Amino acid sequence: MDELFYFDYAATAPVRPEAAAAMMDALGQFGNPSSRYEYGRRAAQRVRQDRETVARALGCAPGEVYFTSCGTEGDNWALRRGVEVNRRKGRHIITTAVEHAAVLETCKDLERQGCEVTYLKPDRAGRITVEQVTAALRPDTALVSMMLVNNETGVLFPVAEAVKAVKAKDRAVLFHTDAVQGFLKVPFPLCSTGADLITVSGHKIGAPKGIGALYVKKGVKLAPLLTGGGQEEGLRSGTEATGQIAAFAAAVSAVTANLARLEKTAAVKEYTLTQLKAALPRLEVISAGDAGHICAITLPGYKSEVVVRVLGDKNVCVSSGSACHKGKPSHVFAAMGLPKPWLDGALRLSFSPESTREQADVLVAALKEAAGSLFTTLS
Ligand code: PLP
Repeated sequence: MDELFYFDYAATAPVRPEAAAAMMDALGQFGNPSSRYEYGRRAAQRVRQDRETVARALGCAPGEVYFTSCGTEGDNWALRRGVEVNRRKGRHIITTAVEHAAVLETCKDLERQGCEVTYLKPDRAGRITVEQVTAALRPDTALVSMMLVNNETGVLFPVAEAVKAVKAKDRAVLFHTDAVQGFLKVPFPLCSTGADLITVSGHKIGAPKGIGALYVKKGVKLAPLLTGGGQEEGLRSGTEATGQIAAFAAAVSAVTANLARLEKTAAVKEYTLTQLKAALPRLEVISAGDAGHICAITLPGYKSEVVVRVLGDKNVCVSSGSACHKGKPSHVFAAMGLPKPWLDGALRLSFSPESTREQADVLVAALKEAAGSLFTTLS
C-alpha cells in the first residue's frame, strides 16, 4: 500500500507490533482461564499478569480492573448499573452535552426508562467548569458522568476538581469519567482523578479493537452488565478474550515505557497548527486542544466531508469530527455555539508519537491544494 499520512489517531491507532506479538502468543496458548487443568491455569495466570499491567498504568489495584470488549461497553456498564446502585437516592444524572455517543445515547435510553438527565453546555472554547457541575447537583442526583478529554476538541475537563467538589457536597453521588481519549495521553494516572468509575479502550493506544476496561473503585457495588459464567469476579461474564487482553497489556507496557511520547506528540501538533495557519489564511482554529494529540480546525465556507474525501484520495487521513458521526454534523461543535460555516468546514486532526513534521508538511500542502481547487469549484 502507498504511504499513509494518518491524522486520525483519535478514531483508532495502528496495532503496535508488541501488541500483535503478544496476541499471537496468547492465541497459540488457547486454554480457557476457567479450566481446572494446567493449560487453563496458565491462561488464567497470564490474564492475572496482564490485569496487573493495566492496573499499574491506571494507578489502581488489579482487583479494580474489569476487562470489557470496548469503551462503549464500559460507558454503558458504568451508566446503567451506576444509576441502579443509587436508585434509592434518585434517578437524576448529570453529564455534558459533548460526551461521546456511547454516553449520550445511553443517557437517552435511560431517560426513556424514567431517568432525568442534565446536559451541561460548554462555552465557545468547549470548556465545562466545576461550578457548572456542582450547580446542577440535586438531592436525587445518582451519578455524574464527565469525560476526561473531549474526542473532538482535545479539551481536558477538570475531572479531579469536579470529583472533589461533588463529593464534598454529596458523597453518595457516583462519579464516572469516560477516559477513552485520556488513557496514557495525559501526564497523570487516571485513578488520581478520584473518580469511582473510569472507562478506557485498547484500540486508541495500539491494542486491537475489541478490548477495553472499566475501573471500579474498591467499595463501589456495581451490578454486572453481562451475566453468565461468572468471569471477572462475577461482574463481567464471558470467557476472557485472552488474546486481546494480552495485546492490551503489551500495548500499555510499550506506551508507558516511552515517557517522552506526550511532549513529542504535542510538539508535532503545534507545528502542524502553525504551518496550517501560515499556509491557509482562511483557516480558523476551533480548539488547539489541551491534550497533546487532538485539535480541531475549520475552513469556513467549505464542506468538511468533501475536504475529507479529497484529502483521502491523496492518502491523507483526517476526520470531519468523531468517526462515529458518520457524516452528521458534530454535536460537540454545535453545542459550542459555532456559526454554521464553521460547523460545515470543521475538521479534527489527531496525532501520535509516530506523527512527524514531514507528514505534517504533506497534510498542509494537501489541504492547501484541496482548499484552492474546491474554492475554484465553488466560485
Ligand atoms: N468514548 C470516547 C471519548 C471515544 O472517543 C470513543 C471512541 O472513539 C469511545 C468512547 C468508544 O470507544 P470504543 O470505540 O472502544 O467503543
